[in-house]
Amino acid sequence: MSPASATPRRPLAVRLLVLLLTALLLVLLGLGAGLAPASAAAFHRHGEDLVRGGGAAMRDLAAQQTVAVETLLVDLIRRSAEARAAAVADLPLELLDHDLPSIRAAIAELDAARAVQQGQNAHRLARELIRRADLRIDQGLAELQTRQSDALSAFGSSLRTTLLTVTALLFALLLLVLALGLHRHVLAPTQRLRAATQRIAQGDLAVALPTPSGDELGDLAADFAAMVAELQRARAEVERLTHGLEAEVVRKTQHLERALAELRSSHEQLARAERFAALGTLAGGIAHEFHNVIGGIRGCAGELLQDTQDPASAETLQVIQRAADRATSIVQQLLRFARRSLDRRGPVDLPQLAEDALRLCEPAARRQGVQVVRALAPAVVQGDADALHQVLVNLLTNALQAMPQGGQLTVRTAATERGGQFEVADTGVGIAEACLPHLFEPFFTTKDRGDHTRRGTGLGLSVSYGIVQAHGGAIAVASQPGAGSTFRVDLPAVPPPQAAEPAPDQPAGPA
Ligand code: ADP
Repeated sequence: MSPASATPRRPLAVRLLVLLLTALLLVLLGLGAGLAPASAAAFHRHGEDLVRGGGAAMRDLAAQQTVAVETLLVDLIRRSAEARAAAVADLPLELLDHDLPSIRAAIAELDAARAVQQGQNAHRLARELIRRADLRIDQGLAELQTRQSDALSAFGSSLRTTLLTVTALLFALLLLVLALGLHRHVLAPTQRLRAATQRIAQGDLAVALPTPSGDELGDLAADFAAMVAELQRARAEVERLTHGLEAEVVRKTQHLERALAELRSSHEQLARAERFAALGTLAGGIAHEFHNVIGGIRGCAGELLQDTQDPASAETLQVIQRAADRATSIVQQLLRFARRSLDRRGPVDLPQLAEDALRLCEPAARRQGVQVVRALAPAVVQGDADALHQVLVNLLTNALQAMPQGGQLTVRTAATERGGQFEVADTGVGIAEACLPHLFEPFFTTKDRGDHTRRGTGLGLSVSYGIVQAHGGAIAVASQPGAGSTFRVDLPAVPPPQAAEPAPDQPAGPA
């Protein structure tokens, strides 16, 4: 897993936007908090200066106008005084007999006094005008100041409201941007990451991971993806190991099962071989004794038959001889079962052997409506051809007897790794499972029940078993009741050396 990056990397656009909005917000807050009152005070001061300046100018103007009016009045008074003086001078006072100069002087004095009085009045008037103008100016200025103060407070409050509104809007915008940024860059990736984590926790490692975005969450997502990849590799490795382990376990189990089956089979074969060896010894001993006894009986019966002239006695003696012959045949078969050696040795061509045996059995097969199938592949072993021929005839006879209503008889020969094998398969009645362990025992037969004509001795398979054993081979049967049976004989290429112990005495053949 790659280590998490130490430097956080937020998207540039988001950072710039947040910075800009924060700066704007701060400016507006600063304006609202400090600049607005300062601006209002400056405004107020400036207004007062203007009012003051305006008042002074107006006062100057009023004073100048008053001075001009006063000057004009004084000039008018002076001119009217001059006009009156001229008029007085033009008066025909000479007609009067009064003291003309004194009259003239009195009039001039009166006129001058009036002029002075008028000048003083004009001056008073000018001062009154100035006073009233000042008064009106002061009233106007006071009113102006009141209006200015009202306007200023209205302006301040409107400025504050505007600033607050803009600040609130900006703040809301900042919050919106932050919320959107938070959702887009934090919440949504976190949720995707969480969903992916939950699916991974449930074991789904193939989940689509969020794309790394270049910030802290991106680093986290990248680390997470690396962890998932590591997990996937680990799981693949575990699966590979588990698979290998399972395959190995299956292989070993199969191997063990095979070994166990082989062991069981070997055990059974060994037990059967031991049992059959004991049976063989017993049967051989009995057969040997019976062989002598039967030989004696047959010899005596023969001698009596030669001596007797009585036809009835002769017939009885012939019955005794035939019974002795049959007993001899049984004893010979028993001896064959018991013997563990071969009479002759030589190459045995198995397909040829099968053809010879089939030639003997085919007439019976035709009679029963049994179809014969040959699958004869080349195979040659060393052994006793006559003995093996007997084995094949026994198997073919049993197969035909199992198919009284017809069927199919298949004979196969084939070369094997060990040597060769032949197989006789029928589609007959099959063998009950309970009978299978006893098939090769001497005198085991199912053919003595009911049908007297088809009574069996129960020696065919035991003799065959003895012959195959003497060849170092094995005989096996597979059967399904109602479906048929298959007997297979496996033979080594070369039989084992002859047994050390001497073969039992050959019984005397029938006369
Ligand atoms: P026998 O033929 O005299 O009975 P065997 O030793 O040849 O003696 O056979 C023993 C028994 O094995 C038979 O009685 C029969 O029950 C059974 N058997 C042998 N071969 C077959 C077969 N092909 N199909 C059915 N049963 C068979």
